[in-house]
Amino acid sequence: MSTRLQADSPLAKARRIVVKVGSALLVEGRSGRINRAWLESLVEDLLRLRRRGQQVILVSSGAIALGRRQLSLAKGPLRLEESQAAAAVGQIRLAHAYKELLESRQVTVAQVLLTLEDSERRRRYLNARATLETLLALGALPVINENDTVATAEIRYGDNDRLAARVAQMAGADCLILLSDVDGLYTADPNRDPRAQFIDEVRQITPEIEAMGGRSASGVGSGGMATKLLAARIAVAAGCRMCIAAGHPRHPVRRLEEGARCTWFLPGASPATARKQWIAGTLRPAGALTIDHGALRALLAGRSLLPAGVTGARGQFERGDTVSVLTPEGIEVARGIIAYSDSDAAKIIGRQSAQIPDILGFRGRDELIHRDDLVLLQSSPT
Ligand code: GLU
Repeated sequence: MSTRLQADSPLAKARRIVVKVGSALLVEGRSGRINRAWLESLVEDLLRLRRRGQQVILVSSGAIALGRRQLSLAKGPLRLEESQAAAAVGQIRLAHAYKELLESRQVTVAQVLLTLEDSERRRRYLNARATLETLLALGALPVINENDTVATAEIRYGDNDRLAARVAQMAGADCLILLSDVDGLYTADPNRDPRAQFIDEVRQITPEIEAMGGRSASGVGSGGMATKLLAARIAVAAGCRMCIAAGHPRHPVRRLEEGARCTWFLPGASPATARKQWIAGTLRPAGALTIDHGALRALLAGRSLLPAGVTGARGQFERGDTVSVLTPEGIEVARGIIAYSDSDAAKIIGRQSAQIPDILGFRGRDELIHRDDLVLLQSSPT
């Protein structure tokens, strides 16, 4: 096999990549120990991506599988409390392994444990997103898992496929790789049906494609194809391409770059476009800001909205809500995600950004709406 990177591989073009590894890859079935040689090869692959200037986030399972061995929990399904106890024991081991492997290669590793609520509740979502952004900006490699020890049955992801897709969405990643024990999607279960055909590209997740996923297998560490398709839906809607690929061979990511078989799910739009479409499509903006002519010119030139250019604010909104932006004449010219709540916005509008810490007592963003979070609506007035 050639070691050349295929220039047209979606992986080569990606700027920010989330890689998810499942428990069955990471933990040796018989001994219940970390599969070190394999993990080293994965880490080498991730560092290669980073050396090329691509940012990497790893979503790693394995805590429960590692912890259950340590606690000598019998084979078979675990009760919720048992799997939470196992996760508490296993997560330390997992983190330790990543720390050793990465820090010996001069890379700082950061552990982030998330719950479903962290990705569903707006404020927590924004905080988690800001943390990931900061870690990446500082050059750390975030290693993420679900916070299994506190997530109760009803509010649990339970599978890291969907968690990884949420992370990809949250981080604005443009590529998600699910390393798994299957090499991709087939028209039927290849173990049972000899006529099953491999699908290498999916541009739309139709009911027909859904049907190929079958039902999700239950139990830890086996999300099955159904959860992978759910993950694909989340990723693609966020403008992130996703692939399902075989993780068992050593150097699983490098193999992929070199053209190993896998299934790609391709979105219609980039993460930035998908986000802007989502902002523009908000059914009911939570409030509205009226701006002056100077701010309008800045917006039309593609700049952010600063508090100084805002003359009025109405509505009830929280940081992270979508609001309308109105011209002095009251015409809706843009929509965006606001960085302050209505009460804080009321205090800082018309003021210079440098005064924000004095007025509010904390240092928030300089912009009321950052240009990345702002979308101009159709034909804008001049
Ligand atoms: N969070 C679980 C663990 O680390 C794994 C969930 C999954 O395998 O998808 O053990």
